[in-house]
Amino acid sequence: MNHRIILGLLVFLTGMGCVGNGGKPNVFIIIIDTLRADHMSCYGYDRLTSPCIDSLAVKGTLFTRCQAQSPWTLPSHATIWTGLTPVSHQAGRRADRTYGLDSELPTIATILKGNGYITAGFVNVAILRNELGFANGYDHYSVNMCGHGRAGETIDEVLTWLHENRGNPKPFLVVIHLFDPHSPYSPPDPFDTLFCPEGVDGVDSWEISSDGTVLNPEDLEHLINLYDGEIRWTDSQIGRLFSGLRHLGIAENSIIILTSDHGEEFLEHDYIGHGHTLFQELLHVPLIIAVPGGRHGVSDSSLTGQIDILPTVLHLLEIEKDGNFEGIDIISGQIPSDRTMFSSGCELIFADRCDSAVLDKENVWSLASVLKSEKKVIMCMRTLNGFMFNLTQDPEEKLPLTPDEILQQELEMYWSTPPTGRLIHVQSDIIDDQLRGLGYIR
Ligand SMILES: [Zn+2]
Repeated sequence: MNHRIILGLLVFLTGMGCVGNGGKPNVFIIIIDTLRADHMSCYGYDRLTSPCIDSLAVKGTLFTRCQAQSPWTLPSHATIWTGLTPVSHQAGRRADRTYGLDSELPTIATILKGNGYITAGFVNVAILRNELGFANGYDHYSVNMCGHGRAGETIDEVLTWLHENRGNPKPFLVVIHLFDPHSPYSPPDPFDTLFCPEGVDGVDSWEISSDGTVLNPEDLEHLINLYDGEIRWTDSQIGRLFSGLRHLGIAENSIIILTSDHGEEFLEHDYIGHGHTLFQELLHVPLIIAVPGGRHGVSDSSLTGQIDILPTVLHLLEIEKDGNFEGIDIISGQIPSDRTMFSSGCELIFADRCDSAVLDKENVWSLASVLKSEKKVIMCMRTLNGFMFNLTQDPEEKLPLTPDEILQQELEMYWSTPPTGRLIHVQSDIIDDQLRGLGYIR
């Protein structure tokens, strides 16, 4: 059905009445897969890729230094779900085995459900499916196995669900995962040509040889143009969601958080895709938090991370913490200037291309990084080989320095932190097939 017709029906059927509040605000968490912050116009990109998301930033706080805790989907989402780092929740993949989310860990869905919320999740990748523990705590959980190109349908699903639940007196938690900027880069018309002066003809994803060599580096510009088109297409669907919330009368009573699970590499460090390094093209993700009646139009350059999302939501809803979160509330008070932000969970994806001292194939899964102020250390925690970068002087991480001893020690402490979650091995041919199909494993 045409998107406009669906929206029109919702408006007609629902009127302008308030949907689900129960005295507390609704919470919407929008996660756009593979979205680099520096390719969004609200983060200073020179193309208008995200006008609708930019409008959310005007209504809330734009965090300009948010770090992903992992460079790929599974561990990053587990961090957003739990407020824990990858070494703590242990979801991910190592030595060809997939580990799901420990069902005993409190998550944003289990906590909010336990505090009177009706909870709904709409996700678009098989590795977030029920078998891996991600559906725990959701009253409604919709999974599309590979939802590439499904941003429009997913927003329709969300609006339909909101309409169907309009009489529910409970407030909502709605988590929306959109997969479209993930490769292959194939935005629909007219977004396919929007940033492609050369035309849409050509490759839409990287071609890799059996030894891991990128066969088409000359297509870099074309692939970036298509990637940017995917962002703008996805942004247009976020715009439809915002219109729907306004028409349903719930926009003014909803906390809206938008982020990404990780970025994407375009040969900045000779690599493509994501999942196997910890450079900023993978770790610098967007984070926007808009709170009804809260501060707006604010740009906050404090160091933040995906670990902060859950503690911030709980603080805003005045729900007492019942978990051991590693993040903090970042919206209500002063964020400490001496924070350290850890990332890890490099576990797969073109591992046979990892041939340097740090990115050794055997050691990919044991890479970890720490960012503190302008200093960032990336180390292999098995060999303790590593580099430091000064992100103020060297934002592209091209000039490796000898690691700071104190930061190195902090990284070793992070790495040896006793895990909170259990290792939950999940054997699934469906998961393996999808990882293979997406080019993550061979
Ligand atoms: Zn992802």
